[in-house]
Amino acid sequence: MRRTLLRILLILLFIPLSAALGHASADDKTIKVQVNQLNIREGPSLTSAVAGKAYYGEEYKVLKEKGDWIQIDFGGRKGWAAGWLVQTTEAVRTDESPTALVTADSLRVRNGPGEQFQVIGTLDQGETASVLEQNESWVKLQTKNLSGWVSADFIQLSGKSAPAPEKKNPSEGTNMGEVRASASLFVRAEPSLNGKIIGEITEDGFYTIIKEEKQWIYLEYKKGKKGWAPRWFLERSSSEKKTAQEAPAEGSKIKILYEGTSLRSQADVNSKIVKRAEKGKVYKVQAAAGSWYKVMDGNQNLYIAGWMASNLNGTPQIAEPGPQEYLKDRLIIIDPGHGGEDRGTTGALGTLEKNLTLRTALLLYNKLDAAGARPILTRSHDTYISLQTRTAAANSRYGATFLSIHYDSSQQNDVQGFTAYYFHGYQKALAECLEEAMAQNLMLSSRGARQGNYHVLRENKSSAALMELGYLSSPNEEQVLRSRKFQEKAASALYKGLAEYFKRMD
Ligand SMILES: [Zn+2]
Repeated sequence: MRRTLLRILLILLFIPLSAALGHASADDKTIKVQVNQLNIREGPSLTSAVAGKAYYGEEYKVLKEKGDWIQIDFGGRKGWAAGWLVQTTEAVRTDESPTALVTADSLRVRNGPGEQFQVIGTLDQGETASVLEQNESWVKLQTKNLSGWVSADFIQLSGKSAPAPEKKNPSEGTNMGEVRASASLFVRAEPSLNGKIIGEITEDGFYTIIKEEKQWIYLEYKKGKKGWAPRWFLERSSSEKKTAQEAPAEGSKIKILYEGTSLRSQADVNSKIVKRAEKGKVYKVQAAAGSWYKVMDGNQNLYIAGWMASNLNGTPQIAEPGPQEYLKDRLIIIDPGHGGEDRGTTGALGTLEKNLTLRTALLLYNKLDAAGARPILTRSHDTYISLQTRTAAANSRYGATFLSIHYDSSQQNDVQGFTAYYFHGYQKALAECLEEAMAQNLMLSSRGARQGNYHVLRENKSSAALMELGYLSSPNEEQVLRSRKFQEKAASALYKGLAEYFKRMD
């Protein structure tokens, strides 16, 4: 009797669950858009009329395939997508289960729903997984080779049982449009650099504008969550701009504007440079991928940044987005402090300043180089160089901007934060831009932009700044400073600060 009752109870318990899961349909194939915007066409060819546009990360059901082209269900209509601009995924999830998109750098997967559980793997930003279970703050995910729990804060849910991402509250600025972040930025509770940090937006992400105020934009940075982000590196992606940028490209011809223009493996400034093109060379455009052109060189498909080429059909040239525009061709001397027998300060945990300054400098060097700037390092390995030699690196070149990188130390081990120094009045604006960018992008507290009597500033005829990027004498801060994440973020903040400086000087 009791056993029967138990069985009935079990059956009752399981009915709603299995009904909710729906039927698994393993032959469902979907595509995921891999470029900022994608033309959906009426036929499987670049000359077919454009039926609409799809955007990065969106997923569509595949109806059929023809050569390089894929026919999709485009919101109830049929449309064709270029196969090389999308990623095809075999859906193994059930009809009703939502999918999760990883929004964090390297997301830990654990064998239970809590920090106390063991880490069994990691997921990268942009990876998707199907959702098996969830509670308030933890979600159980299934990927091809991993199943486990992750924190709900670092994923974005989509799919039929999650709220539709397209739905906007009509009372709130539906016409305000969208912005694309050309850099990752903090989101704050108030429109001020002193506002509390409540979240973060990622580079190349699209965000809905709710309202604007002077140098700040109030936007939805996460489903249902709103905050303020500075306008600096938010680029409006309203429909007029999108069509002006993309429509003319396909099938037309472009001419390379600069000697040695990079031809890359992807439509992304961080992707591999496969070869360089000569100035004046003409290419036929195979497709437009956001603000990039896809061209055929030999038998390779390569990408050229739209702002490096002019369009021969008399259509407007693509305007370069983001910091690169201001950094291109700028001569920037990066000076990693100390080196060789001059070790600089030694951290509470043993970090040598001379090593950390070089690490930050090399990261910054790579970013500037990729953006088309002309960075020069005063040293690129562990050697001693005099202060005079460092200063001469700037003074011997016309139009250089000088940035010296250091880490700080204090007798009191509770002093923390970074400081931007200048000496001459003509150096102040640079120090201020770097200070602001650091404050905007790092959790470290700012000690402000100050005048400091340092040889490399005082004897420098260029715009110059010396950054003390935090205190190695504080064991807590030292731990942060030597982490890969901090190093990446600091280099990226300095990069953005330099771009902002050149933007203001223009
Ligand atoms: Zn130093």
